[in-house]
Order: sequence, then C-alpha cells, then structure tokens
Amino acid sequence: LPADIFPGRCNSAGIDLADPLVCEPLLKRLAALDSRHWDAGPTFPAQESGEVAPITSPHDLAHEVGTRRDATEAEVRVAIGLAAEVQHGWNALGGERRAVLLEAAADAFEAHTDEFISLCQREAGKTLVDSVLELREAVDFLRYYACEARRQFSAPIMLPGPTGEENRLTLNGRGVFATISPWNFPLAIFIGPAAAALAAGNTVVAKPAEQTPLIAALAIRLCHEAGIPEQVFQLLPGAGDVGQFITSDPRLAGVAFTGSTDTAQAINRSLASREGPIATFIAETGGQNAMIVDSSALPEQVTRDVVASAFQSAGQRCSALRTLYIQEDVADEMLAMIRGAFEALVVGNPESLATDVGPVIDPDAKAALERHVARRKKGGQAVWRQKMPRSTAAGCFVAPTIIEIPSILDLRRENFGPVLHVVRFKASDLEQVVADINATGYGLTLGLHSRIESTRRTVERLATVGNFYVNRNQIGAVVESQPFGGEGMSGTGPKAGGPHYVARFATERVVCIDT
Ligand code: GLU
Repeated sequence: LPADIFPGRCNSAGIDLADPLVCEPLLKRLAALDSRHWDAGPTFPAQESGEVAPITSPHDLAHEVGTRRDATEAEVRVAIGLAAEVQHGWNALGGERRAVLLEAAADAFEAHTDEFISLCQREAGKTLVDSVLELREAVDFLRYYACEARRQFSAPIMLPGPTGEENRLTLNGRGVFATISPWNFPLAIFIGPAAAALAAGNTVVAKPAEQTPLIAALAIRLCHEAGIPEQVFQLLPGAGDVGQFITSDPRLAGVAFTGSTDTAQAINRSLASREGPIATFIAETGGQNAMIVDSSALPEQVTRDVVASAFQSAGQRCSALRTLYIQEDVADEMLAMIRGAFEALVVGNPESLATDVGPVIDPDAKAALERHVARRKKGGQAVWRQKMPRSTAAGCFVAPTIIEIPSILDLRRENFGPVLHVVRFKASDLEQVVADINATGYGLTLGLHSRIESTRRTVERLATVGNFYVNRNQIGAVVESQPFGGEGMSGTGPKAGGPHYVARFATERVVCIDT
C-alpha cells in the first residue's frame, strides 16, 4: 500500500484550549450544561422492566448525571432479531453510501462538541484536555472508516481469469456484530469499533460500559439523526449480564470487545460454546506496558514523557506506562527529576482547567489500586505518593504513586490507574529486560528513550508488542498514523485506526463466471 492511502485526508482540528477567546466561552457553555440530566436505555424497548440505575460523577459521587435503564434479556433478543432483518439491505447499500452516512455522523458529533465534552467530564471524570482529545478521536474514527468503506467496499477486486472466466472478489458484512466497549474511552472506543463494523456492512448492537452509557446514548442518537437507520445500529445498555445475553445469542456473527483480558477470555468461551455460525472475535485488552530508559536519554524529555505516559488520564489508558526500566547509572538523577514533575501534578475536579489528573472511574477501581499500594508498602518497597487535597474527598481519587520493584514479573495483574512502578537495570542486561517484558504475556505498548541506534534496533527486534514508541510518550495513538492494538494477552491484533481494521469485520466472497 502507498504511504498515503487517502491523499488530502486529515484528522479533525480539535479545539485550541490555549486560546482564551476559544477556551473561556467554552468553559461558560460547559458550566451551563452542568445540571443537565441525561438518560440511556435500549433503542427498541420490548418491555419497560429493565433495572434503572443512577449514573454519578466519579469526582463527586453525590452528583447524578443521569440514569441508565438496562436492556432485559427479551430486549436483547428483539434487538438482535431486528438487526439481523436489515443486515442484508445495509450491506447491499455499498461502501460509498455507508461512507456518506458515517461522515454525516462525524459532522453531527462536531456540532455537539459541548455536550460530548460535558459528558466526558461529568460521566467519565475526564479532564478538559482528555475530553477534547476523545471527541477528536471519535470523529477521526468515523471519517477514517468512511474512507475505508469507500476504498474497500465500493467495487469488487477483479482477479485474473486464465481460461477466460471472470473472477470477482468482494468484501461484505458478516451479519450482526456486537460491540462491547469500555468506560475509559466512552465515546471514541464506543464509536470506533461500531463505525468499522457498520462501514463493513454489518448491523450493530452496542453495549457501552455500565459506568458510561449516557455519552453512548447521545452518540447513537446523533448517528440516527444523521441517517443511519435505528435498526442498523442499536444500543443495549447494562452491566455484565446484558453482555452475557448478547454474546450467548447464536445469531451473532461477531463481537468487537475492548476491556479486561479476563472478560475477553470469558466472551471467547461464551462464543465458542454457542450453536450457530463461528463468530469472529476482535478483542483489545490490557497491557503491562514498560518504558526502557538508558543513560543516553535526555532527562527533560524522559521526565515529560514518563509523566504523560503514566499519569495522564489518571493512568486509565490501556496504553499507559506501568513499569519504567531505568539504567542504574542514571536512575537517581532521572528519578529525582521525575518525582519533581510528579509532585507538581494537580489532582482534582476534571472540570477545572488547572487539573492534570482526575478521578479513577469508580469506588471499586479506587479500592483495588489502594490495596495494591498498601501491599507494596507492607512488603517494604519504596513508595512515593502525592498528598491529596481535601477537595478530593467526595470522589474516587487515587494519589499518583511511584513504587520501586525488582522486576516487571513481580506484577501479576494490570494496575489500571495512576501508579508507576520503577525497576533499575544494568546496561549489559538490556536483552534480559526485553525478555522479562515479553514474558508478562502482554504485548500492547513499549517505550524506549535512547540515542543509541543499536539499542533501538535490538529492542525493536526482540519486543513482542503492538505499538513501540521511541523518544516520546507511549499514549495517544493517532488515527491513521499510529494504528493501535496489541498481541498476546493484550488482544487479537487488529489495529484500530489502521488500513486493515475494517476488513477484519468483513467476509470475502468470490464470484466466478465462465463464458
Ligand atoms: N488508543 C489509546 C492510546 O493510544 C488507548 C486505548 C485504550 O486505553 O483502550 O492511548
């Protein structure tokens, strides 16, 4: 493929928060949305008996943002039936017409910037910067997958016919796809996999994370207003039981899931034990991501990139840095600088412009992180923690934390929050360090800070990760430029925002016509 598959295509511009003429009016408009109450429920209610749960702000558990009505099992069955009825027609529409509808949805998202930012902050606890980036990524996914629908789904590929026959290869939707999305990217990863499935000619039933259904409900409403038929793209809010109703349905052709490795394995088992078609399973799961810093690295750059990779989004990205390997000769000096920058991070209300680190998603997430830190302290490991302002008492805040550990293999599970582990290593052990990182079984992101070309080549050759970042931070993959996804326990491999992603939702058909 050429380097530039879609000449002239570019990602969305976002919002320049450094410009007070843009930022100040935005903050006023967001303040006006603060008391708005939102609802999420199934798109096609078969009955009205599903449980209703309040959705509260992670930074202020007393603040109700809206309510979620869960889909019942009967509604899940109705939804999948309706989606199956219209799939053939949606596929027959062709790539070009589906692309136009996805682009109309992207325009509608941009026209509702304020509501999306407000929901990212209030429902998911995202800072203003993260909220703006989230909306950008959502819009970029819609437009990029629209381009892919046009490129790969508009016309057949004509294949050689050595005896005079005509051979045609087409990509088609597989059927009904379920998308099960996470709370940490409640808009971008809600819409990204769904847009890819739709672009490929599938109909979609979407289950957003139980913590963040409100932003998903707004997204799906705008898709419908933009012309994507309601039966083609449906919402099924709820907790894990709703996910189980969906993934046990024999009519599903595939599932695209983003979330924990444990849940991915459970879904895989559920799909394997059903009757019906052998489902396609696309999973993007956790990471045990490391960064390696050697003595040739630039300390200021390392400091900036470590702090961003570990603490931006309160560490709640699956790409986030969890274990920093620092060459022992420079470790004290580097750690002093990193700790200085880490102590300057402002933890607090994500609706304040000054905040760098917002809350974690809910009390369970906070409790799990606190248990991890307490265990490490008890084990006698060096632990640095930020002092938390009193204003954080009403929400699910976890103090940014740095813990020294002997090896990445000491960590048994992913710690999904603002907790950075540090390991010192000898330059002669570089290959062993990469072997240990690979031995975690995860393979999502890896960072390297080094000015030595042979070190870069060695790490690149040995590391089994999906995304390897050199001399920069390791979060914030950009649609089209850094397709994102991991291997091993980190996922089944398709790269979101990359040239092969949409085709993974499709089936190939060949027509051979003899004369
Ligand atoms: N794509 C995101 C990034 O590069 C991470 C996605 C996730 O956390 O699931 O930071």
